[in-house]
Amino acid sequence: MNEHTVDLIAIDGPAGSGKSSVSKEIARRLGYGYLDTGAAYRALAWHVLERGADTEDAEAVRAAASDFPLRQGLDPDDRRVLVGDTEVTDAIRESRVSAAVSGVARVPEVRVQVNEMFRRIVAEAPYPAVVVEGRDITTVVAPDAPVRILLTAAPEVRAARRANELGAENASAVAEALHKRDARDSTMVDFLTAAPGVDVVDSTALDFPQTVEAVLAVIERRRGDGRGVDNG
Ligand code: C5P
Repeated sequence: MNEHTVDLIAIDGPAGSGKSSVSKEIARRLGYGYLDTGAAYRALAWHVLERGADTEDAEAVRAAASDFPLRQGLDPDDRRVLVGDTEVTDAIRESRVSAAVSGVARVPEVRVQVNEMFRRIVAEAPYPAVVVEGRDITTVVAPDAPVRILLTAAPEVRAARRANELGAENASAVAEALHKRDARDSTMVDFLTAAPGVDVVDSTALDFPQTVEAVLAVIERRRGDGRGVDNG
């Protein structure tokens, strides 16, 4: 078998920080794969609901996770997500799934299981590197990744971006749902403060192209550091 190591670029951040669109754009520019780990948690939440269960019921979540035929690719331009033969790409963005997903993400055994899946997907990826985006990638999934970034933005900016993305007429309801989800999620993983060695990119005052440039600059700098060490 060929020895093929796939590099991992870890990007964490809260909802509305811009991490999905930025991560996708970085992957496109550099010819890398892109893994949206939030989509996997969302698909699992969808799967639990589809089975008529409640994501607050940890036992039901564990049962659904033990039979979870997720199909998710790494092409940044192909965002399709399937559970078995059912395409759930749009369904997993519905507010009923957003409201239920934290329940799934709070079950420790489920996190262990999906993290193993993420590491396997990256290891087998037909790309030189994969941009992996989520909440605990820099700390739990890939604490040894050569590039680890926390993408942040002020809460009001994140809420406004998310409302805009969803084309929502009720911006304050969107803001409330987002802050509620962040609060629940942060009891499980701390994605608001950077772990040691993680670079912070604050996008509060940056537009999209500026954020992409800031992240690319971190990648370049970290890679430069690495080359200095092993003489590449
Ligand atoms: O990134 P996104 O907002 O789509 O993530 C959906 C949910 O999945 C989060 O609110 C969180 O509950 C969960 N999640 C997680 N760990 C990750 C990625 C997402 O717990 N690495």
